[in-house]
Amino acid sequence: MADADPGPRDRVAAALPGLRAFAIPMRTRFRGITVREGALIEGPAGWAEFSPFPEYGPRECARWLACALEAAWDGWPAPVRGRVPVNVTVPAVGPEQAHRIVSGSGCRTAKVKVAERGQPDAGDIARVEAVRDALGPEGRIRVDANGGWDVDTAVRMLRQLGRSGLEYAEQPCATLDELAELRRRVDVPVCADESIRKAEDPLAVRAAGAADIVMLKAQPLGGVAAALRVAEACGLPVVVSSAVESSVGLAAGVALAAALPRLPYACGLATMSLLTGDVTADPLAGQAGYLPVRRPPVSPQRLSRWESDPAPWRARVVAAAEFLGAAVPAGPA
Ligand SMILES: [Mg+2]
Repeated sequence: MADADPGPRDRVAAALPGLRAFAIPMRTRFRGITVREGALIEGPAGWAEFSPFPEYGPRECARWLACALEAAWDGWPAPVRGRVPVNVTVPAVGPEQAHRIVSGSGCRTAKVKVAERGQPDAGDIARVEAVRDALGPEGRIRVDANGGWDVDTAVRMLRQLGRSGLEYAEQPCATLDELAELRRRVDVPVCADESIRKAEDPLAVRAAGAADIVMLKAQPLGGVAAALRVAEACGLPVVVSSAVESSVGLAAGVALAAALPRLPYACGLATMSLLTGDVTADPLAGQAGYLPVRRPPVSPQRLSRWESDPAPWRARVVAAAEFLGAAVPAGPA
């Protein structure tokens, strides 16, 4: 299909000369990185971000590129809401700090990191209790174990943490088999995050009975329209999350959350606070637990502060473009 349709290749050729690259230090380490790097391209519909993580090869990057080309040329489906609810994220910190983070956030939903390697179970329990205290009885708490528990540990911990009231547990175990077994043993709903990396994964998660909820991200799934198709095909409730982009990339996640017919859960899109700067003068930052549905323009002055060598990013775009035809709607494994 890609060779028969020269559209995406023409768009890549048009975007390359004006491509800009950025490198923004992070406030805290995330996925082993301390600087968030990416590229910005401009098309008739506006600026777009291409920021696959460093270890991703061209085939995987093609989906991220498809998302950027959609943003720069096609724009996004019409929103059905004017703002999207977002959660505050609480890292694996002590209870006092967890309380402060939640109280100062303005959010009514908190995602609490648990199952951090080397930390005692009692630390997770104290952190979640402190978050419940900060939120009050009406607030919602989800825990994110990043696949760190085996099934027996997840059963034991979710029973204990469940006393604080949990809306769901995000990726409590690593594999689909484990998640499916866990779901048969606990009442806390399970959300799949790391189990979903490409378009066909949510269908596999559902077929395996491995989750009640799926986490979707715009860039890894090939764009907003592709992610909406995935959500519809999967049929499970969706939580939209970012890939810790600048506000330009984040806008795609906001557009996805804004266009979903149903949005029962707060989204993991309040991630600008993880970065020390932005490429826009008007960042997509949370206000009282919501993000506005809008597209911030690139500010040349802000971008110049974080600008890095575009040459490696042009090379990544060119390499990823070779796989564009396979990237949408469902990339091969
Ligand atoms: Mg997660």
